[in-house]
Amino acid sequence: MKRLQIIRTLLIVLAFLLFGVAANVLVAWWLVSRTPVSRLLPAQPAWAAAVPSDWPPCEEAKVFPGFGVTMWVSGGYRNKGKPEQVMYLQCLIAAGLPFRAVDMEMRETQDGVVRTAQAVDRDRRPWSAWSLPVHPRWTGFLGNSLSYAWAAWALPTLVGSVVIWRRRRNRRQGGRCINCGYDLRDRGAAAGSPCPECGSAAGQSGNAPASQA
Ligand SMILES: [Zn+2]
Repeated sequence: MKRLQIIRTLLIVLAFLLFGVAANVLVAWWLVSRTPVSRLLPAQPAWAAAVPSDWPPCEEAKVFPGFGVTMWVSGGYRNKGKPEQVMYLQCLIAAGLPFRAVDMEMRETQDGVVRTAQAVDRDRRPWSAWSLPVHPRWTGFLGNSLSYAWAAWALPTLVGSVVIWRRRRNRRQGGRCINCGYDLRDRGAAAGSPCPECGSAAGQSGNAPASQA
């Protein structure tokens, strides 16, 4: 019997955790899908994620802080300023609320075309319409999943507590037993005795709301 209860509790906890993970990822993907690439701010010139060893140092970087989404765009050059200039471009997009939970990284080189990073930023979306971040950033992933699991567990409990509290308060103010709602106002001298309906001592103060501070 006790073992069954433990298993049941574990399954419930697992269900909430799974819900938390799913909600976390769906929120992150939703955030990415609705984020326009419209506002880029300068950042420290450094690759936001690891790049192959033969890449040049990062020279320009910008960060896009959006609602629930952060994007880093950084670039470096080989043969800069020459006709054979090659630009190396990295884009890292991280999404999730409250923490960044998943990210995706795109890298490419642009051979033979002299472009500035600004022109690249303006001209093209750095991700296709259908790509979504699937790589977990574990700290944020765990934090978000636990937050959502906790919210899914706590919100109904909280709402239920408020509903019960309001019902008890209304019964108390209406002179009814706070346990079963039985009308205690006509008891007269019997006030102070247990509720005649359910026997609850909680019904004692039905005629004296003032004493229920
Ligand atoms: Zn009662």
